[in-house]
Amino acid sequence: MMNDTCLLADRYSEPLLQSLWDHLRKRQVLFQSPLLATCVAFCVHFLFCVPYLVLDLLGSRFQWIYNYRIGGRAYESCHIRRWLDCLGRIFFKYLTGILPSIALFQSLREPSLPEKAPSCFIALTDIILCLLLFDTFFYMWHVLMHWVPWLFQQVHCTHHQNYETFALAAQDASIAELVSLQILALGSAALVQCHPLSEALFHLLNTYLAVEDHCGYDLPWGPIHLLPCFSGAQYHQAHHQRYKGNYAPYFRHWDWIFGTELTQTAT
Ligand SMILES: [Zn+2]
Ligand SMILES: [Zn+2]
Repeated sequence: MMNDTCLLADRYSEPLLQSLWDHLRKRQVLFQSPLLATCVAFCVHFLFCVPYLVLDLLGSRFQWIYNYRIGGRAYESCHIRRWLDCLGRIFFKYLTGILPSIALFQSLREPSLPEKAPSCFIALTDIILCLLLFDTFFYMWHVLMHWVPWLFQQVHCTHHQNYETFALAAQDASIAELVSLQILALGSAALVQCHPLSEALFHLLNTYLAVEDHCGYDLPWGPIHLLPCFSGAQYHQAHHQRYKGNYAPYFRHWDWIFGTELTQTAT
């Protein structure tokens, strides 16, 4: 009885994230197989895009959906053909660019899988620090890509082919840009020295926020309505339409500090 009580006490003293971490540790292959990691990254990105695909498909039938579309009726929903073309392009780039780069990164670093999961507080702190660092690196890299004509032509202009953004456009970029952003994300997590579970959650959130930035909808539950420090879809669409300003992906402070914030967002 005494033993049972102790076991029960131990169970409840474990961090909340422990069972999730135990589950992931049993599937170590996820951290070791480049093919599996690439498939997971591709599928997660697509799954985050699916709700916006549904909105685009229903847009012509249910006109009220246009109320949430940035630019309203002026920018009609993205056609299914554009979605499929873009999905094909991204799939090809994952196969030829992301898969080899994940294989290279995995060969360069030994996965460390500690037994203990982080506490919720530690995980949250890790994720916020990673997001802030990634936002800073992205801002600097993005400004550089716009300032140096060669970099814009060779690396970034593919991403700007989408004048009106839609969810999949988040990863509709050149292989060089996709890999460079992957390096920035991995570098941010390495600098923070966060727990592998925090890092996995950061990559998940990073993918979601990139989709949210490009979705083309201003929905009431968008991050910008939850926290005003977030930039949001309207903010990033203005960048796509003016080819300058609003360089930061998620937060507004760097654009505000360096005077690169667009004062009037495009409609
Ligand atoms: Zn973009
Ligand atoms: Zn740009």
